Amino acid sequence: MPRPISATIDLASLRNNLAAARSHAGGARVWCVVKANAYGHGIGNAATAWRDTADGFALLDLDEAVRLRESGIRQPILLLEGAFEAADLLRIAEFDLTPVVRHADQVDMIMRAGLPGRMPVYLKANTGMNRLGLTAKEWPAALAALRACPQVGPITLMTHFADADGDRGIDWQLQRFEGLCAGSGLPRSLSNSAALLRYPEVNADWVRPGIMLYGGSPFPARQSAAQLGLRAVMTLRSQLICVRDVGPGDTVGYGCVFAADRPMRIGVVACGYADGYPRHAPTGTPVNVAGRMTRTLGRVSMDMIVVDLEHLPEAGVGAPVVLWGEGCPADDVATAAGTVSYELFCALAPRVPVTVIG
Ligand SMILES: *Cc1c(COP(=O)(O)O)cnc(C)c1O
Repeated sequence: MPRPISATIDLASLRNNLAAARSHAGGARVWCVVKANAYGHGIGNAATAWRDTADGFALLDLDEAVRLRESGIRQPILLLEGAFEAADLLRIAEFDLTPVVRHADQVDMIMRAGLPGRMPVYLKANTGMNRLGLTAKEWPAALAALRACPQVGPITLMTHFADADGDRGIDWQLQRFEGLCAGSGLPRSLSNSAALLRYPEVNADWVRPGIMLYGGSPFPARQSAAQLGLRAVMTLRSQLICVRDVGPGDTVGYGCVFAADRPMRIGVVACGYADGYPRHAPTGTPVNVAGRMTRTLGRVSMDMIVVDLEHLPEAGVGAPVVLWGEGCPADDVATAAGTVSYELFCALAPRVPVTVIG
């Protein structure tokens, strides 16, 4: 028998979550963000689930975008970081992809590439994130050059919010962006999942949800995924492979960081950080054993974690365990481990066998 760990990807949940995003998008068209192998869910699975319902797919990698196109996706495909070198532009044109222009040099690259037709582009403004995008100073010349360039087709203006899920919100960036867009009459794209849900009034022409499509809340401390109508897509399951009793003073696992203060029943789960479970998850991280919530004990090891069976006398070797997903929200595990569901999903290790359902 193989080690009992496995993950499922639920296509019905992917479809549900896109419908939920659409219901908040107020008529804006939806780029399904599928970067990082669809946040660890498999880009092919995302393409299967949303083939007929996405308005477009957004990602970073040119080869992945080409594969998506070759798999029969007809919708626009947006390259969120655009072309890295001039040669990329010819492939972008060949496969009818839409690059983001995020640096003034990329404008020149487009003008000099000898493009065969009119390429649609997204022009990205840096309004405060300070990663990618043109500054307010660079913007007018770049926009004018693109508008005048015979090789450039429809232009959409975009920016990305730094704190749509946080205290600072989006107004400060929105004001700067509106200043740049004023009078252009061009379509716009602003919102990630957090902005889409929290500031629906700015959804504009195209929204760019990622995490919500995979069943994660962009602001779990404020609203859970379930409250937002989102369903778990990835469920990571395993089993108890050992059960034992410990007494007062006995410690559990590496570093002896958990010590029992009374007689306890504990179980060992076949799942560790080499499967993608966060090593930083402390004692008390939620875990579902035999259909009930309990907690982890001590440090996460490479291949195992230990769980508290004090209130689960019926759970023996072979009892089913959900590490995250249906029955144990990934957001709760992520919060306990000081991270975000994005990181859990992306970290699912290649050694974990994946089954597609729904
Ligand atoms: C990743 C990304 C998104 C999606 O963000 P979520 O928080 O996952 O919704 C949107 N826009 C850009 C530019 C991105 O890089």
